[in-house]
Amino acid sequence: NYKEEHDLSAALKRHGNIVEGTITLKLPEGSNDVLLKNLYLSCDPYMRKFMSEILDWFFQYAPASPLTGFGVSKVLESGHPDYKKGDLVWGTTKWEEYSLVPSSQILFKIEHTHVPLSYYTGILGMPGLTAYAGFFEVGLPKEGDKVYVSAASGAVGQLVGQFAKLTGCYVVGSAGSKDKVDLLKNKFGFDDAFNYKEEPDLNAALKRYFPEGIDIYFENVGGKTLDVVLLNMRIHGRIVVYWYACGMISQYGRTQPEGVTNLSYLIIKRIRMQGFAVFDYYLKYPMFLEYVMPKIKEGKIVYVEDIAEGLENGPAALVGLFKGLNVGKQVLLLARE
Ligand code: NDP
Repeated sequence: NYKEEHDLSAALKRHGNIVEGTITLKLPEGSNDVLLKNLYLSCDPYMRKFMSEILDWFFQYAPASPLTGFGVSKVLESGHPDYKKGDLVWGTTKWEEYSLVPSSQILFKIEHTHVPLSYYTGILGMPGLTAYAGFFEVGLPKEGDKVYVSAASGAVGQLVGQFAKLTGCYVVGSAGSKDKVDLLKNKFGFDDAFNYKEEPDLNAALKRYFPEGIDIYFENVGGKTLDVVLLNMRIHGRIVVYWYACGMISQYGRTQPEGVTNLSYLIIKRIRMQGFAVFDYYLKYPMFLEYVMPKIKEGKIVYVEDIAEGLENGPAALVGLFKGLNVGKQVLLLARE
């Protein structure tokens, strides 16, 4: 009974047929679940929220169980008609080598394999769809709009900046090191970028980069940054906020979030601040692929990843997100096939 097994990998190995050192993993008889071999795991900031002692979102990790998260996997066996042995999929899996997932779980079949498979944890996975839906559907950009992106070199931010440029916007990003600022300007094509750690006065910096104000703020950070951005928005500006009143990584470890004091500017400047969650947009995934795939092929969009290897290095990679150690999308490689 897999529900009674704490460590599925160990259980499968226990019940597997060992032939000359190889292990055959088998689906339980009559199961309509899917047995996966995990190839890449995605390190995502939201996972920190699921470790909170206070249940303020819909899910909490259970101690001593593998983390649940996004990943790219190969189907080893399937009791579900939509998946067959050998299929490559991305979706929700667990931080373990092999996972048994219920057929009700969302898994997207990977059809395009001419790109790195790890891209399905980033540009072609949940963060990519987040950037796309957040920028186009919530931000409603127009040519000439002035766009500001915080945590701009990360999994989501680097794409928002490139989508903004492809739409004819002026875009400035902030990030936490000189190398990241160089990436923003020289690799992702942001019009300008700055290291927020070296700006003692963010208000002055934003006034310098946006003398006429900001039309769209893509909110990744929250807290004081959001407070100062509010002062610099243009009339009828849009603030895209996502997951848990956020994308607010600076607030994730706090039991008491920092107060935002300038909310009156929502009225003064008639700003629309709208939260969204990426899973509301899963049905748009095919449309997103149609938009992004040709641009990757033609080199009009590039993507930077930071790949750590081995499950044992997962915790450090995940924690590194909150110290800004990742340069680009943080991925964990478990197996190449
Ligand atoms: P990133 O790849 O950008 O990694 C996180 C980055 O955040 C770090 O590299 C660091 O960059 C920056 N950071 C960390 N701590 C702080 C801090 N205290 N203050 C300012 N910056 C900080 O992550 P993602 O692109 O995957 O995610 C960005 C945000 O979007 C997160 O808040 C995430 O939870 C949210 N998100 C929401 C989704 C939704 O459905 N609503 C979906 C996907 C993401 P630096 O060195 O520049 O400081």
